[in-house]
Amino acid sequence: MKNVLFVASECTPFIKTGGLADVIGSLPQALKENEQIDVQVILPLYDEISEEWKSQMHLFKSIDVPVGWRDQEASIYKLTYNQITYYFISNDYYFTRKGIYGYYDDGERFVFFSRAVIEALNYLERKPHILHAHDWQAGMAVALAKIMQPIEDLKTVFTIHNIKYQGVMPIGTFEDFFELPAEHIGGLEWDGKLNCLKSALFHADKITTVSPSYAEEIKDPYYGEGLSPILIERADDLVGILNGIDIKEYNPLTDPALPVKYRSSKARKKENKILLQEKLGLTINSDKPLYAIITRLVEQKGLHLVQHIFEEFLQEDVQCIVLGTGDEEFESYFSDIAQRYPEKVAALLYFDEGMARQIYASADFFIMPSKFEPCGLAQLIALQYKAVPIVRETGGLKDTVQPFNEITGEGNGFSFTHYNAHDLLAVLCYSLTIYRSQELWNTLAKNVNKSQFSWKKSARDYANLYYQLTMEYA
Ligand code: ADP
Repeated sequence: MKNVLFVASECTPFIKTGGLADVIGSLPQALKENEQIDVQVILPLYDEISEEWKSQMHLFKSIDVPVGWRDQEASIYKLTYNQITYYFISNDYYFTRKGIYGYYDDGERFVFFSRAVIEALNYLERKPHILHAHDWQAGMAVALAKIMQPIEDLKTVFTIHNIKYQGVMPIGTFEDFFELPAEHIGGLEWDGKLNCLKSALFHADKITTVSPSYAEEIKDPYYGEGLSPILIERADDLVGILNGIDIKEYNPLTDPALPVKYRSSKARKKENKILLQEKLGLTINSDKPLYAIITRLVEQKGLHLVQHIFEEFLQEDVQCIVLGTGDEEFESYFSDIAQRYPEKVAALLYFDEGMARQIYASADFFIMPSKFEPCGLAQLIALQYKAVPIVRETGGLKDTVQPFNEITGEGNGFSFTHYNAHDLLAVLCYSLTIYRSQELWNTLAKNVNKSQFSWKKSARDYANLYYQLTMEYA
């Protein structure tokens, strides 16, 4: 039996801001199929986690976490859900706040979390053989596991879900926060600053990222966000494993959020569309092609391209629903355009899982022209709800969406190569042409019905990685 401890900052169904939460929620479930692997998950206990969940947790252990010259108290809570053990680290000072990210001291908050995880290792019911940390918030746990060796021969895996966010702090944090000999500073430092992501890349036994294409791309300075030199150095230990989604959870036939459930029936999908058009004040007509965007409203998602050509595209007989929160620039752009085209555009500037599912279920198309995309789950959820993805060929989008070819009849979506607004416009207009040709649309719909990205294969790849790691050094 291999015991694996997932360390992360978000996880469905407890707390989510993006795809990371979906992965931490669903991958342990998929790994459970393998009887030789036991996954436990450790997370911060945010105020934002609902009372419904908190009432099911029980206090497992109170601990003191050394941070520099002082100790901080922390409590470990425990919850078992769907046969997985979850531990939550609570600390009044760092995690009793509104929201989960966006504070001036985020770096320190998650360094504290990582330090507390190392302390908690002494008490967990099942001692991990492998510590598998995800993204910068958990990065320092990998470094500390290697430097402090809290468990003999503990192996570490670090997964990059997005290299853009690195957890960078002034170098002085090292002295202030860690009781470590100065020789360790080199492994934690990058460009004169303390860098949580780099610390993990330097120390992890294996590094994974969430699609094969992104694993290649981040070795290139254009995508590497300053860290490509270290990824090139560690290329032999870097592997891309495509994310999956929980296909039981995202199933239009059983999804409780949908007014009308369906498997592949176009007519039933259209009933969802009509209800949503009505709810959002769009023109009610099930034949109007409906395009959707559901995303964090940040530059990464290619929204500058959308901004550039959106109004031109809206001159066509189309509708668009945008669901997202994020940068003010995009929020005000979409709310302004929705006011000017109330029958065609709805801008929903909030986070709502149920609404997201209703939109996926109603949409004919899903627009995701990302500048970069480590894997992307939204396009996989869209395929699951039979909305055709329109993407830029980058990272996981390239690995999951094959452009429709009307001659061969192959492909499950539409794509374009260069980060260029008029290329996006051209492909949007092309998607309309296909929508209007019944025969081609039917062929495309069949391909979409066959596209399914479950965790099955990727969970096996992770399991093999764990075996390889623990045997190699045995
Ligand atoms: P990222 O992790 O970069 O945000 P992904 O495509 O991997 O992008 O995952 C995004 C996830 O967050 C998807 O499950 C998507 O449906 C969801 N999501 C994004 N914005 C919202 C929102 N405003 N309301 C509900 N769900 C959202």
